[in-house]
Amino acid sequence: MGFSTDAIHAGQTPDLTTGAVITPIYQTSTYAQEELGVNKGYEYGRTHNFTRQALEKNIATLEKGNFGIAFSSGLAAIQSVLFLLKPGSHVIVTENIYGGTFRLMDSIFKDYGIEFTWVDTSDIRKVKKAVKLNTKMVYIETPTNPLLRLTDLRGVAYICKKHKLISVVDNTFMTPYFQQPLKFGIDVVLHSTTKYLNGHSDVIGGIVITNNSEIHERLRYLQNAVGAVPSPFDCWLTLRATKTLSVRMKQHNENAIKIAKYLSKNPKVKKVFYPGLPNHPHYKLAKRQMSGFGGMLTADFGSINLVKKILKSVKIFTLAESLGGVESLISHPASMTHASVPKNLREKMGITDGLIRFSVGIEDVEDLIADITQAIGK
Ligand SMILES: *Cc1c(COP(=O)(O)O)cnc(C)c1O
Repeated sequence: MGFSTDAIHAGQTPDLTTGAVITPIYQTSTYAQEELGVNKGYEYGRTHNFTRQALEKNIATLEKGNFGIAFSSGLAAIQSVLFLLKPGSHVIVTENIYGGTFRLMDSIFKDYGIEFTWVDTSDIRKVKKAVKLNTKMVYIETPTNPLLRLTDLRGVAYICKKHKLISVVDNTFMTPYFQQPLKFGIDVVLHSTTKYLNGHSDVIGGIVITNNSEIHERLRYLQNAVGAVPSPFDCWLTLRATKTLSVRMKQHNENAIKIAKYLSKNPKVKKVFYPGLPNHPHYKLAKRQMSGFGGMLTADFGSINLVKKILKSVKIFTLAESLGGVESLISHPASMTHASVPKNLREKMGITDGLIRFSVGIEDVEDLIADITQAIGK
């Protein structure tokens, strides 16, 4: 089936009791059992929930995966993936990953005997060089936040197969509409469904997708044993949202390309970071492994004073953390998402005080450009 058909139908059949076209919210903590040891395969809400199963099948289908395991947040999904490891394991991680993932690895999992090496994974030779005897996993984000650097998915999958490592991709920024890492041989894909998959800024959620049945069995066990499961209502909202994923992503992409081009020509802008611009260092790779460039872009305005003025003057863009909703958001990486990184390290990574990150929504792009224009001023 095509992507949009799957988005609307996968995992969903009319309700068996009433014929309801939309999968109901099975808001129940437990299930009646007919007699001792006899039930309909549903025993307890943490372990089994029909609405959640529908969501898992739906997103797994979109990622071209056999198994989906849903969690109560993106970080809960990442936590479960890290629980695949045993103490003494080493993980190679994209430097400059999502701040919450860095915190989870560096200040929690490190204390449980997991070792992390932060690598510029956009250079595949550096990934190869970082492999050690106890390396068990390569964990990447592509594109990264906020500089939108890319990593070669096929290259990572190749190294991982060769050394028997688990390859993991956080695909939150691209969604399966633009990038399907499993097709390149990646073992595990995960999402913060909070962002584009739900897309309406009203749910916190996460999901992991894989084709590997051993990994699936372990993650399914962890989902129940750790217990960070999403509520039936949140699953239902996300399931409602994925129906429009393709039309939303098309519009995010179209608007972001126009804004990236507009900013590139504005004399107040020093540099634009967007993988859809031919001068982006990974433009060719972007064309190879993505079918679009997404709705996230970053621009360097050179000075903190201009940044402050813009953030204060925008009327349609909302100053807020998060991304991927239908409404446009604007943020300041240096003091918001990357505030916990020391200034000298931050600047070394290229995250200077002059950067503004845009999560381009699906409003009329003329209005968005007019808003940015008036905020920049004369
Ligand atoms: C937001 C985000 C997360 C964390 O997800 P939550 O749903 O907030 O727990 C992980 N990775 C990326 C890339 C994100 O943007």
